[in-house]
Amino acid sequence: MKDYNDYETVIGLEIHAQMRTHSKMFCGCPTTFGSEPNTQTCPVCIGMPGVLPVINKTALEFTIKTGLALSCRISPFSRFARKNYFYPDLPKGYQISQYELPICEGGFVMLNVDGAERRINLTRIHMEEDAGKNIHDGAGSHVDLNRAGVPLMEIVSEPEIRTPKEAAAYVRKLRTILRYLDVCDGNMEEGSLRCDANVSIRPRGTEALGVKTEIKNINSFKFIEKALEYEIERQRRVLSEGGRIIQETRLWNTSAGVTESMRSKEEAHDYRYFPEPDLVPLMVDDGWISEIKKGIPELPDDKIRRYIEEFKLPAYDADLLASEKQTAAWFEEAVSLGANPKDISNWMMGELMRLLNEKAIAIEASQLTPVHLCGLIKLVSDGTINLKIAKTVFEDMFNTGKTAGELVKEKGLVQISDVGELEKTVEQVIAESPNETARYKAGETKLTGFFVGEVMKKTRGKANPKAVNEILKRLLG
Ligand SMILES: [Zn+2]
Repeated sequence: MKDYNDYETVIGLEIHAQMRTHSKMFCGCPTTFGSEPNTQTCPVCIGMPGVLPVINKTALEFTIKTGLALSCRISPFSRFARKNYFYPDLPKGYQISQYELPICEGGFVMLNVDGAERRINLTRIHMEEDAGKNIHDGAGSHVDLNRAGVPLMEIVSEPEIRTPKEAAAYVRKLRTILRYLDVCDGNMEEGSLRCDANVSIRPRGTEALGVKTEIKNINSFKFIEKALEYEIERQRRVLSEGGRIIQETRLWNTSAGVTESMRSKEEAHDYRYFPEPDLVPLMVDDGWISEIKKGIPELPDDKIRRYIEEFKLPAYDADLLASEKQTAAWFEEAVSLGANPKDISNWMMGELMRLLNEKAIAIEASQLTPVHLCGLIKLVSDGTINLKIAKTVFEDMFNTGKTAGELVKEKGLVQISDVGELEKTVEQVIAESPNETARYKAGETKLTGFFVGEVMKKTRGKANPKAVNEILKRLLG
């Protein structure tokens, strides 16, 4: 009797990434999301007889670029294939995809899950066209073919993912890289990035793969983890009760929190793949590949390493700052202006992220620029303003686009560090608080906070806190 309480999970992911090209894979129709149904179609993408597809060179370039960034082998010779199946949103009755000769093979994605490095190998990356969309509403069922023919990259991993958490980390990492490369916007809600998961379990220590099920079209990181957790537990229960897993395609039901059987899983031979007769095989020359390679920016893993080594940032900071290309560019611009990297990081991870989230503004659209932040950091480090005031100045800069210098001058926020002036205020506070003074002198030193707070009130937050603390110690001694 096998013990399915001690099982191992085997997960392989297929990611469909919609490429950020202006036109479709085999025709000139636009790819804009959200247009009126069937306004972005032509005889080619609605499958009229007698039309001929023409390969979108940018889509090919994007796929090669992604392959290079993920250390794939770029095939000098590849070709398109027809994948035959019937579905109302597929007017041609077949999808042009790649089968036995994909453009990219091998490659890998590095993950860091709970502090442990994991390498997930890729099987392949191939190009294909998207299908249209069926819309079911009260009036009946409709087909929108705007999406038919939109270029997709299918990135297929080896079955090397072991936990739902790893699966989510893998998709997150791929999304980051695709966005760095500017080949896919990664918008999961709009369906620009979709994930199919193949999952099976086997008793730990055995080699043979169990029967797998495929969960289709998972469209958020949260659902990837939830759907996989549910499905693994379902399989374990079936097997431990002596049942057997049926190879099938399942759907994640978001509201019920369960996976549900959709149809029995088709095998490759069900699709009757054959080479696309309307397209010549693809021959990619080395010159073009090295040209594309030059256009690959520094990728997140390299950035994280560099931020840790060059700027002495903690791994946590480096990871967060490198998670989006625009955030990293903002950080690097601020560093180039000469401020301390850790100071910049603190402001960015705290106040800046908070305000950007609150106001739903993208970092590149913020009127608070790296120049503003460096100006503020300088005013703090030279003692012109204290940190508390700096926080309000930061928010004002964010809202108005004015510089720290302008705001400090306008609002008279310069820090009071003059000992004589501060002493007067402290004496006043002591005189007005005989009760607290007595308690402090009796040993209740935690009242320091109270006195500092009172001094801050009287100076409208402008007192130099360090100076106030020293004066207090001296006068209450
Ligand atoms: Zn078209």
